[in-house]
Amino acid sequence: MTDAISNTSAHFEGDGVVSFSTETLRAVRPGHVRIRVDVCALCGSDKRLLASGAAVVPGHEVVGTIVESAPDAPSEGTRVIVYIPVSCGECKACLEQQNNRCYNLGGLMGWQFDGGFAEYMDVPVQCVLPVPDDIPSDVAVLALDTFGTAAHALRLGARTQPDGIQNLLVIGCGPLGLGVVAVALAMGIPTVHAWDPNDARLGLAEQLGATRALDLETVNQYQVIAEASGADPARAAAQNLVEPGGAILALGESNEPYLMPATPRWRRTDCFTVRSFYFPKTEVADNWSLLRSHGATLRDTIMTPTRLNDLEETFTKFLDGDFVKPYITHEEN
Ligand SMILES: [Zn+2]
Ligand SMILES: [Zn+2]
Repeated sequence: MTDAISNTSAHFEGDGVVSFSTETLRAVRPGHVRIRVDVCALCGSDKRLLASGAAVVPGHEVVGTIVESAPDAPSEGTRVIVYIPVSCGECKACLEQQNNRCYNLGGLMGWQFDGGFAEYMDVPVQCVLPVPDDIPSDVAVLALDTFGTAAHALRLGARTQPDGIQNLLVIGCGPLGLGVVAVALAMGIPTVHAWDPNDARLGLAEQLGATRALDLETVNQYQVIAEASGADPARAAAQNLVEPGGAILALGESNEPYLMPATPRWRRTDCFTVRSFYFPKTEVADNWSLLRSHGATLRDTIMTPTRLNDLEETFTKFLDGDFVKPYITHEEN
């Protein structure tokens, strides 16, 4: 129905090399909508694909505008976020709307299916969620990995605590850790401390409203600890700092195994270790509310707009720590 669309997309060749191709898009497959990508944020996890190379177009934190709709999908012109799990829709988890827990996950957008480092992207109908009109696209993108994943982890953690979370330490102030700080404050958690070996990053957490943790040596200090770095020393610190009965939210992903060391401290600490993955669609409405109060501040603190054509250079600066949360945008200014 639409005129032929020419689409430029990025490809990860491995070893940090990004190439581009431009081709005319074919007709949208049944059950999919076509979106114009408005914002696609870079994620720490993309670094693995950047090193190894990727079979599909990467990019999994996407806000776009529907240019060609499908039955049961929002209409053309609707702004949407892309929910990345492509779930079966039939298993126990999917029937309970916990699609992030699908027993037969078909894959993830930007990982097994073409993602958003492109001008256009085709998305299964089940994966598009409308963005409220009052939330700009560069804030809406935070509803995904940064706010959505962080909020889900905090909600899971809260379920382990009879009186909810009163006292939180966030270790690692990269985009996810800073997201946890912002969400925790938006949720009204009374005490939010943060720590990062990088003073500038820790400063960002303070700018958002967290208090700098001063003592990482004394045991039994924090009810809940969000470990958002994936670094071994941080994981070990979390194990020491958690109060008996508390919870460690194991969020940081690295290539190293998550070890539970057979130390006396580990053996003798009665606590929860919580691992979470992404978020269910049922939490999205609440997350828009959290974003309304704290999203713009987080955007202004961590995000930098960049161009698709500069993606390789942007990743270099991201890896070097010059950018906290860069995103590509096709919009002017
Ligand atoms: Zn991500
Ligand atoms: Zn399922």
